[in-house]
Amino acid sequence: MGDLRDLYQEVIFDHYKRPRNFQKMAGADCCADGHNPLCGDQITVYLKVRDGVIEDVTFEGTGCAISTASASLMTEVLKGRTTAEAEHMFDGFHTMVTQPDPEAHPELGKLEVLSGVREFPARVKCATLCWHTLNAALHKQSSVTTE
Ligand code: ZN
Repeated sequence: MGDLRDLYQEVIFDHYKRPRNFQKMAGADCCADGHNPLCGDQITVYLKVRDGVIEDVTFEGTGCAISTASASLMTEVLKGRTTAEAEHMFDGFHTMVTQPDPEAHPELGKLEVLSGVREFPARVKCATLCWHTLNAALHKQSSVTTE
């Protein structure tokens, strides 16, 4: 388990240092701002949606390693998914980071690297901020806060 944890931390650190899809999107179909006042994380998620499929997703903002890495990983797994699949992944992700003994969620793939935050309840909001923000954007809400 120790090796796995090291690997997970390495992946998180890599996504924090070099976040993927980290840019403002011109001509986004929807976007939303998310704020986690507990930690000071602030992100904006941009989406391009065609016929219920997420064609492109980007984000920008400032935050801690967990919130930045989580958003970066989220953008990687969401491209090409339907909005229904995205909502299902949000549910699965939320369960993974909050339940002490979650069932396996194979659909989450590389998001598994964030499963360790469930041992740090204060960081759960950092990890889920991008998903709440995505959800707000999909439902045409302009902003969301974890509080
Ligand atoms: Zn944070």
